[in-house]
Amino acid sequence: KTVTAEDIRKSVEDNDVHFLRLAFTDVNGTLKAVEVPKSQLDKVLTNDIRFDGSSIDGFVRLEESDMVLYPDFSTWSVLPWSDERGGKIGRLVCSVHKTNGEPFEGDPRNNLKRVLKEMEEMGFSDFDIGFEAEFHLFKLGEDGNWTTEVPDHASYFDMTSDDEGARCRRDIVETLENIGFEVEAAHHEVGDGQQEIDFRFDDALTTADRVQTFKMVVREVARKHGLFATFMAKPIQGEAGNGMHTNMSLFKDGKNVFYDKDGEFHLSDTALHFLNGILEHARAITAIGNPTVNSYKRLIPGFEAPVYISWASKNRSPLVRIPDAEEINTRLEMRSADPTANPYLLLAACLTAGLQGIKEGRRPMDPITSNVFEMTEEERVQRGIKPLPSTLHNAIKAFKADELIQSALGEHLTQSFIDSKELEWAQYTQSVSDWERDRYMGY
Ligand code: GLU
Ligand code: MG
Ligand code: MG
Repeated sequence: KTVTAEDIRKSVEDNDVHFLRLAFTDVNGTLKAVEVPKSQLDKVLTNDIRFDGSSIDGFVRLEESDMVLYPDFSTWSVLPWSDERGGKIGRLVCSVHKTNGEPFEGDPRNNLKRVLKEMEEMGFSDFDIGFEAEFHLFKLGEDGNWTTEVPDHASYFDMTSDDEGARCRRDIVETLENIGFEVEAAHHEVGDGQQEIDFRFDDALTTADRVQTFKMVVREVARKHGLFATFMAKPIQGEAGNGMHTNMSLFKDGKNVFYDKDGEFHLSDTALHFLNGILEHARAITAIGNPTVNSYKRLIPGFEAPVYISWASKNRSPLVRIPDAEEINTRLEMRSADPTANPYLLLAACLTAGLQGIKEGRRPMDPITSNVFEMTEEERVQRGIKPLPSTLHNAIKAFKADELIQSALGEHLTQSFIDSKELEWAQYTQSVSDWERDRYMGY
């Protein structure tokens, strides 16, 4: 249903909202917000809240640093926390525009809308996405900072535990439901302190907005429990990392065009072509889906994270898995991305690759039927199974070599993404770690 300005005005009164939080996302996927008091409501609702974009990562361009926020009314929600005086905070997800009213190309959300329009021009109505974002909960230290001590020692799907981790997870789930999420699954993951909460799939823009809200809720609720939530890809060496499996399907006239009851694994030709696009551009997509130095410490054998570019129906070792499901639920599960990815950029890249696959109409390599990690190197080469990039540096190189995936971001975002990531890589290569001291101090 559509939400009108009047609906928002009424909700502000009914819920005693004192502040309006206008949220948007920078190139690195960090959620940003401008918060204004209720007295500014008229301006909020008429696209008249301005801010200085020059200090936002990826926005920098001094001559055009003034930006305007255009709220998407359908994202209105009243956050379940109160300010000091008991007033509530209302939140709207915004697109960033220039002062002349045009959408700003450096805004990842605008960019995803642009790519979705290209999809509609090809005759599809919806790109539906379900994310499975994993995270770790650690205890907060006395100084209020994170520690690496876990609040529980439960394991996968351990539901009997009534420790602080499980209590916190339940509180997160209820908080999410209070602000309109449909939570379909919540469970302890494999690692100590590791959790997963899945909310129902929806169209790409809605799901990207939601995962940003999701991360904010997880962090805030965790703090209330004396815990620190992290979405970093591999917080602890030798233990499971945090993935953000990306379940994708494409719709036309209310029908899932990935489904064909007679197809192998119930996949249509369209699904196979889309899959081929993902596989062909997987190395460049990895730069976007796995955008931190640490991301590549997760993409190693032995922790249910992918390393090789292949696909399968049951096996969990390849990049793309086809979960057993029919009709509306037929989907491709890309297992590489982690929750440090900017969801808007990730979905723009995946959709662009998949649509290109459909345009080209080629079928993917044969699915694998055995564990790709147990194959010999020779066997992988023979089957044409290539590895994902092994470092952020290699992923950036792959991104810089892939014009299609760059076009998925557009010129402005491509440049700011490369600038930001090359700086990150340079800082990392210049840092001296504990590992190095342990290894070389005696030299
Ligand atoms: N934690 C695993 C990863 O790093 C995924 C586990 C799962 O299959 O849910 O991707
Ligand atoms: Mg999981
Ligand atoms: Mg999964």
